[in-house]
Amino acid sequence: MKANIYDYSRDALAEYFLSLGSPKFRATQVFEAVYRHRIIAFGDITNLKKEFRDKLKEDFYFGSLSVVKVLVSEDKTQKYLYRLTDGNLIETVLMKHDYGYSVCVTTQVGCNMGCLFCASGQIKKIRDLTPGEMVMQALTIDDVLRKEGNRVSHVVIMGIGEPFDNYHNVTEFIKIINDVKGLEIGARHITLSTCGIVPKIYEFSQFPLQVNLAVSLHFASDDKRSRYMRINKVYNLEALFEALHYYYKKTKRRITIEYILLSGINDSLQDAAALVRLVRGLNCYINLIPYNETGMFKRTKSTQARLFFDYLIKNGINVVTRKEQGHDIAAACGQLRIKEMICKD
Ligand code: SF4
Repeated sequence: MKANIYDYSRDALAEYFLSLGSPKFRATQVFEAVYRHRIIAFGDITNLKKEFRDKLKEDFYFGSLSVVKVLVSEDKTQKYLYRLTDGNLIETVLMKHDYGYSVCVTTQVGCNMGCLFCASGQIKKIRDLTPGEMVMQALTIDDVLRKEGNRVSHVVIMGIGEPFDNYHNVTEFIKIINDVKGLEIGARHITLSTCGIVPKIYEFSQFPLQVNLAVSLHFASDDKRSRYMRINKVYNLEALFEALHYYYKKTKRRITIEYILLSGINDSLQDAAALVRLVRGLNCYINLIPYNETGMFKRTKSTQARLFFDYLIKNGINVVTRKEQGHDIAAACGQLRIKEMICKD
């Protein structure tokens, strides 16, 4: 069976070529053709001998995603709804910042983590995405940006799915986009967000690239977190923070703690005090996130959000409020996909 060329990291490709008796550097030539020159037909890689091109044609194909819809927000955030070859739908968001263009990538079709405030968690996981299906999300958008003289400069792995529930494919994806012969996105410009799969945090601390880790915390007590995030029943806050302290000790990379403010649920000053106690001593910063309403919960009013923010500042915690983007096009993960599925049914 033919393989999608975008599924392969340069090392994986080199290994495959070596098994065929071809030198390792062929992988670099193919990577340069695919990612630098954006060639999409093996016959066009003219610096390779014809027999080798024919062999590539026999063994590989160029995968693609079909764009079902692109919604553009007032603030220029774009949401792409893609159809995969098996018919499943996924979403990818492109955000324009003053420091560049960032793409929020989806890692699974659906998600098994079932966080109650999340649109993606409302639909069970159907399958994991391959590395190539993640690469193609960034690449398709990068192709569009290139035409305007821009490029994807940052990738956040925060779309639909739990990245650590698809660990191997996600780490292969990171290797491909970080590769200097690939999309060349600096490791410090790549952020992976997990809801807290503790054993994978330990494993990720060994990952050789300097990628940023973010944790979707959202609740600072076990009682509340277990009520809204099933993962906490498996790995509670004590286990999670033990892993985060270990991760920091090992990597010396500051961790981002994400905290969505939900009106009347986790936004009181008692919640803020619990959060301060929890993160004290960990080198991290808190990212307060305004909630994109999906029905069941309400977003915190700005006056309360300010009080919460000020409380953290007063207690010496590094905190930022995430700039809201794409609110008018339902940019929170999973919302467009669900809308599209409901409309089709
Ligand atoms: S918040 Fe993340 S981990 Fe939780 S259900 Fe949504 S996509 Fe899955």
